[in-house]
Amino acid sequence: MIENEKCSPEIEKPLKFAFLLLLSLWFVLVSAVTSAQQASSDVVPLNRYFSQTWSTQKGLPHNSINALAQTADGYIWVATWEGVARYNGVEFKVFTRGEETGLPDSGIRSLSYHSATNELLVAGSRGGISSISGGQWTSHQPTRSMVNHAYKSRDGSLWLALEDAGMQVRFSDGTEAQFLTHASGYRVIEDKFGRVWFGTSQGLFSIDRNDLTLVSPPREALSGPIFSLALDRNGYVLAGTEHGVWQHSEKGFSSLHPGLANESVSSILLDSHNNIWFGTINHGLYRLSALGLEKLDASAGLPNNRIFSLLEDSENSIWVGTTGGLFRLRRAPFTTFTQSQGLSGDYIRTVMQSTDGNIFIGGSGGLDVFDLARFSAIESPLARPISVLSLANFSNNTVLVGTYTDGVLLYQNGELTPYLNRAQGLPSNEVRAMLHAKDGSVWFATAHGLARKKTDGSLTLYDETNGLPAHFTMGLTEDIQGRIWVATGLGAAYVKNDIIHNISFPQDSDAEYAFSFYAAEDGMWMATDRGVAFFNNQTKNISFVGKAQGMPVDKVFAISFDGSGRAWMSSNQGIILSSLESLRASMANPALPLDFEQFKEEDGLVSMQMNGGSQPSVFHSDSDDLWFASAKGLATIQPTNLAKISEFPIPVVIEQVKLDGKSQLSNELTEMTRIPSDIGRVTFTYAGLGFAMPTRIEYQTMLEGYDTHWTDRHQMRVTEYTNLMPGAYTFKVRARYPGGIWQEANNPLEIAVEPHFTQTLGFKILVFVLICLTIFIVFRLRFHHLKKSELTLKQRVQEQTKSLERQTKLFEYQATHDGLTGIANRRAFDDELVKFCTHARTQNQPLSLAIIDIDHFKQVNDQHSHLIGDKVIAEVAQQIKLALPKDAMCARWGGEEFTVLLPNLDITQGRDHVDTIRQAVKQHDFSNIADKLCISVSAGVAGLNAAGDYETLLKHADHALYIAKQQGRDKVISYC
Ligand code: GH3
Ligand code: MG
Ligand code: MG
Repeated sequence: MIENEKCSPEIEKPLKFAFLLLLSLWFVLVSAVTSAQQASSDVVPLNRYFSQTWSTQKGLPHNSINALAQTADGYIWVATWEGVARYNGVEFKVFTRGEETGLPDSGIRSLSYHSATNELLVAGSRGGISSISGGQWTSHQPTRSMVNHAYKSRDGSLWLALEDAGMQVRFSDGTEAQFLTHASGYRVIEDKFGRVWFGTSQGLFSIDRNDLTLVSPPREALSGPIFSLALDRNGYVLAGTEHGVWQHSEKGFSSLHPGLANESVSSILLDSHNNIWFGTINHGLYRLSALGLEKLDASAGLPNNRIFSLLEDSENSIWVGTTGGLFRLRRAPFTTFTQSQGLSGDYIRTVMQSTDGNIFIGGSGGLDVFDLARFSAIESPLARPISVLSLANFSNNTVLVGTYTDGVLLYQNGELTPYLNRAQGLPSNEVRAMLHAKDGSVWFATAHGLARKKTDGSLTLYDETNGLPAHFTMGLTEDIQGRIWVATGLGAAYVKNDIIHNISFPQDSDAEYAFSFYAAEDGMWMATDRGVAFFNNQTKNISFVGKAQGMPVDKVFAISFDGSGRAWMSSNQGIILSSLESLRASMANPALPLDFEQFKEEDGLVSMQMNGGSQPSVFHSDSDDLWFASAKGLATIQPTNLAKISEFPIPVVIEQVKLDGKSQLSNELTEMTRIPSDIGRVTFTYAGLGFAMPTRIEYQTMLEGYDTHWTDRHQMRVTEYTNLMPGAYTFKVRARYPGGIWQEANNPLEIAVEPHFTQTLGFKILVFVLICLTIFIVFRLRFHHLKKSELTLKQRVQEQTKSLERQTKLFEYQATHDGLTGIANRRAFDDELVKFCTHARTQNQPLSLAIIDIDHFKQVNDQHSHLIGDKVIAEVAQQIKLALPKDAMCARWGGEEFTVLLPNLDITQGRDHVDTIRQAVKQHDFSNIADKLCISVSAGVAGLNAAGDYETLLKHADHALYIAKQQGRDKVISYC
């Protein structure tokens, strides 16, 4: 927080040898005096624990906490009147009466964990008794009345403390027994020696297991109600009564501590450091440790003074079940001291260690000195209380105290005296930082300028008039070169040989205020209103790391480095922890995000609002502790303590698997989870069961079969995978606190993504076979088609060949035959004439030739038609053909003329035969062609004998025809 928007710095440790020697002596002395405390290891005063409270508002089913337990898997269990809640550090899962738990009522009175069987016994109203182990509930036979405590002894017998019904035991062999049925049973415990003790409304009893006789201790104090039982470090019983706690030993019973004598002790816990914690019925919590008997009640934050249950968890935190909610004490990274621990006020502005090792604390409430055991307020020397802004070591055991309105005071020998103020030349009484330089002069950063008091007592003032960038100054330091650095409202400056050198921030940094410095060997670290800056002594460059690199705040009030190179920064948003390495890396490459952790209220800070407008606001002590001035108290951390908390192994549990957003029952998760093929999204929810800093737990996951390495999930408690291929996977998760050791979940979850039927081997084979079949069919079809084509082609070729043959024959026929009549044409006749003549001559056989001509044919054409004429020609040709002798041939000679060759017939025989032709034509009936059509022919016949050659033969026949025409037609004339 910046008061009045003003501020200041400086951290310096005088290293004078004498002081160191003194300091060492002091430590030796302190160690000797507190040896008992040191020996008891980490016994921290009860008021230095960090406390937290849970109520119904944070998810508890009821505010009255009846019992508490932690199971081996790491869960914390909280029994209430409205069910038992399982806590994973983040949320409560509530189990009530019903089918799942098998409990007849939700009122739970008792939780007890039996580690041998990994079984949590849950019991309560209506005599309900169930147990849960590995996520599975088992219910047991209920009793007649409410169970106040269910307890399993080492032999497996179940002991039940019952309201108004005494004690019941169910032996592991199945037999049962009852005792004290007129009393109320409250508590059962088995001591180290195998003896079972009962705490009842009528006193303490134990039982001889052999003959089951009850033994009651003779003490009167133990005959009243016994509310609680526990075992001490030696295994003897401790009994909580209406009059304190009684401890058993070989000698009998004795009161444990007189301080408890008036207390009704309702619960007792022996922690792992052998401290004993007591919950009382009306007066809160007590602890008996090496520090004695300490008390913590509602005035220190306990939700209610009535306590019913106590638990120490695996991280050594103490859980307290009250009737007003759940309360926890733990060692947080930070301890914050407030007025309730003795500070004069809660608003702290400055803290520093003096040369004698005491911690000086200044704030609005004044000045306090802390000797590491208690705070002492230093009285104001003025008539009014002082408001402290700044501190500085002056000389041996003297400290300068800068105030808001009263200038500078000097602390010496336990007293404050005025040292320097405005009346004596200080520019302002508002002194925000002071520095005792190596040359002996003292510097004062005030709201109205800088002042230097030299050893001779003279004062030099610096402000804008002699070069200071702004008169509002709030931080001072001296570097190894003896330069005095001043933080102002407008950047930084340093003074060397009385000359002011301005260090203005680069414009792109947007920074204006410098709050404080941390001097390094190679340069100067500056806390500014836009992150952290570093001035490099060699290059004179200023580099920034701020919000652009992921820093959660703009304003950093102070930066300090511990012995391990960790950088601690204070801000209005808590304390930011980074490292020198990461700061340097982000400065060298602004694209690189800063690696940091942020500590807030849950880490032990009562307020995360740090103060830093005056200095030193953060102090790094010689013993490596860091101290922070905050708006609500003085916060401190031992960096080694942080490492210790980080080292706690964190059990991890996989809590839920969701398939496409639908959750699976948690008890199904132990089996191999089968994931149907149509599931697209698998979501795993897990929790690290660390309760000290649950929100800081880091996770890594690996899905074996998919991932090849661990994947950072940061603080995410959910991981999702989509469209997983069929196959077997193992989901693994591990967790740790930052910087701690990874602890893997011991129940990795196996899942099997089932293949879609299209992804099965059978389907693939089927597809392969179908493809082969298709290829085969296509091939066959193609083959068939080709074969068919070939056949068609062959057929076509055959047809075409035939057609060609037909055509050829037709052509041949047409070449030798007359188209109209179908008998040989003149060309064929000419060939045959030669052959006939040659044959007749060689064979010396007669041959006669006739030329036949239709008479007056012109008239046929004229009287009928040319078409009728054609039909007549064709019909005459047929008649000639019909009338021919066997070896003879006829041909159309042209027009309406025909030739006839008659072998073996001489001219006379030939003439006779031709005349039969003439008669046949003459007698033929042409009426089917045309009515009253009468056709006659004339013919001339010649013989080869007389003609000698075929040409003459033709001439002779033609001549004879001519004669026949001349003689009146319808005649056959032979050549003579
Ligand atoms: P003749 O008794 O003296 O032989 O008398 P004609 O009329 O038969 O003789 P001509 O030589 O004067 O006439 C022949 C006619 O025959 C002339 C021609 O028109 C006809 N003619 C020739 N070739 C064909 C044919 O192929 N078809 C038809 N319809 N008429 C034809
Ligand atoms: Mg003619
Ligand atoms: Mg004619």
